[in-house]
Amino acid sequence: MHSPVLLSEIPTVATCLGRTASGFLSKVSVYHGDITQLKVDAIVNAADEAVLGGGGVDGAIHRAAGPALLEECRLLGGCATGQAKITKGYQLPAKYVIHAVGPVGEKPVLLARAYTASLELARAHGLKSIAFPCISTGVFGYPPKAACHVAVDAVKAWMDRDDALVRVVFCVFNTKSQSLYNEYLKPATTST
Ligand code: ADP
Repeated sequence: MHSPVLLSEIPTVATCLGRTASGFLSKVSVYHGDITQLKVDAIVNAADEAVLGGGGVDGAIHRAAGPALLEECRLLGGCATGQAKITKGYQLPAKYVIHAVGPVGEKPVLLARAYTASLELARAHGLKSIAFPCISTGVFGYPPKAACHVAVDAVKAWMDRDDALVRVVFCVFNTKSQSLYNEYLKPATTST
């Protein structure tokens, strides 16, 4: 077991750019690593409609949370694509897991909805920080660059109209995704 990664250890994009700007970039971070290590209010799981665990990030989250997570997931009754459901985090450093179901293939409306549904659920539970994996970009086959743009646009649009969340972390698991997020987020600084 590694020690949990605290939000205070993850700089915001604004900090990385040496800016003191308020707005979206002061609330968003790109973190390269394992989402199960993050000590945030909620980590998002890239689940499927059964919400009963699986491979990829889903499997990693279930392994780290322990078997009680699956027990609670059995009570959820599944989750439609573009929707999200919440459980406790059990042995994870994160208090909650938000199980979001992204689309299979490139369906931007449904992918955006999965991000927005997760943010809505976090707000409804009074949460302040959330970390997202790159939903649908593994076995669900969404092209990573297009998925990155949908993810950032959806989260930015939500954060621009709602100040319930103080920090959103995009947790990337490879250097290609890290570059995609950094490239897409950093030019946006000029206007925020
Ligand atoms: P999906 O079925 O939604 O495509 P996957 O789990 O197959 O979900 O992949 C989603 C993304 O999660 C991929 O970009 C993959 O690299 C990433 N991923 C896998 N394991 C982890 C992890 N432990 N932490 C963060 N991201 C992860």
